[in-house]
Amino acid sequence: MGRLKTLTLLGSTGSIGVSTLDVVGRHPELYRVRALVAGSNVDLLVQQIQRFRPQVVVTATKESHESLINRLRESGLSRGIWPDLSWGAKARVDAAIDPEVDFVMSAIVGVAGLEATYEAIRRGKRIGLANKEVLVASGQLVIEAARESGTELIPVDSEHNGAHQCLRAGKRSEVARLILTASGGPFRETPADKLASVTPADALNHPTWKMGRRITIDSATLMNKGFEVIEACWLFGLSADEVDVVVHPQSSVHAMVEYTDGSVIAQISATDMRMPIQYALTYPAREPAPVPRIDWTEARSWTFSAPDRKRFPALRLAYEALRAGGSAACTLNAADEIAVEAFLAGQISFPSIAEVVEETLGRVPVRQAASVQEILDIDEQSRSTARKIVRERAGNIPQRRQPVEAYFL
Ligand code: NDP
Ligand code: MG
Repeated sequence: MGRLKTLTLLGSTGSIGVSTLDVVGRHPELYRVRALVAGSNVDLLVQQIQRFRPQVVVTATKESHESLINRLRESGLSRGIWPDLSWGAKARVDAAIDPEVDFVMSAIVGVAGLEATYEAIRRGKRIGLANKEVLVASGQLVIEAARESGTELIPVDSEHNGAHQCLRAGKRSEVARLILTASGGPFRETPADKLASVTPADALNHPTWKMGRRITIDSATLMNKGFEVIEACWLFGLSADEVDVVVHPQSSVHAMVEYTDGSVIAQISATDMRMPIQYALTYPAREPAPVPRIDWTEARSWTFSAPDRKRFPALRLAYEALRAGGSAACTLNAADEIAVEAFLAGQISFPSIAEVVEETLGRVPVRQAASVQEILDIDEQSRSTARKIVRERAGNIPQRRQPVEAYFL
């Protein structure tokens, strides 16, 4: 058994954050939670504070900070054991680079998680990486920083985590290609002419995974798989030609690595994020995990097929952005986030998500970013361009779709 690991959890109230605390809570002898960082879900934060007793808690804004103080007062938790409470971007960085901390779980959604993760990497902390934006928006910077500090990024995303495991079977020079699987999302079999009328609720109904809203919509468009291709190239030093996507609706095989001799190593496990989360925490060791085992006595069939790039143009856009290099993937991500929000708000149709992204990529010039600040600037510029495109399109929609304000996953 390794020594006690001290953790900062970025995004503790999210889907990955909650699963991480589930894993951590089962092994108090292995993990101590030093800092919890979240957005605005103060009710859940209070429960997490009571259970895990962190020393530091950071929320997104002054308002959420104040409401957390009120909730803590109401909870009756004795003042003497309240954590240090703060809010905002600098506090997130401080929590991530805290000298006491040796493991940072990066599970904030969006670029809000970027700077804290980057600074933790620069200081050589071991990183469990769930947040996509870190590599999609700023892969070059992040990978260079990791190389310089000598730290390892252990991927939590199931496909990359699977790939990480498959890559342990051979030398990097022996890898021919990496194959990422995609469930195909809820519209895998929806005809092209029906896609224009799917609703946000249809798109949020992911067949195999329960995740946050943004990633669920990105799974329906296959943009999520596109982001994963980009992340995989950075993580494993591969080129766009060396990473393929295959549709596998059962989501049991997460990734496969084909070696130069044609042998393929696959990683298989239940669709439960606690497995990759725990792997990231314990790597290179393995511990028993609280996930269902695959029952090989049960008859099953697993299918694999090529993705339909016509119905799901987001995948093509991601490959194009990857090949364009520089800030193109940052723009891809930013435009997608705006387009997904607009779709969820009933302002644009499902196929328009990819159209907005493509148009934004056409309008925002590709640059080379040399700092996180530059990435955040390009991100902002891309967002405002995407917003403009959404406004132009929203004016053309004859009938507004039903927004989904109260949908929770
Ligand atoms: P959720 O939407 O469930 O959670 C997001 C988390 O980020 C919440 O804790 C939220 O806080 C926090 N957050 C949002 N904005 C801010 C901010 N400005 N400052 C601080 N915290 C903020 O997302 P998921 O857990 O599903 O995903 C997290 C990341 O991991 C994403 O990048 C996603 O793509 C990636 N990922 C997720 C997978 C999954 O299975 N869920 C699989 C692979 C990757 P609050 O709710 O309190 O506002
Ligand atoms: Mg994934």
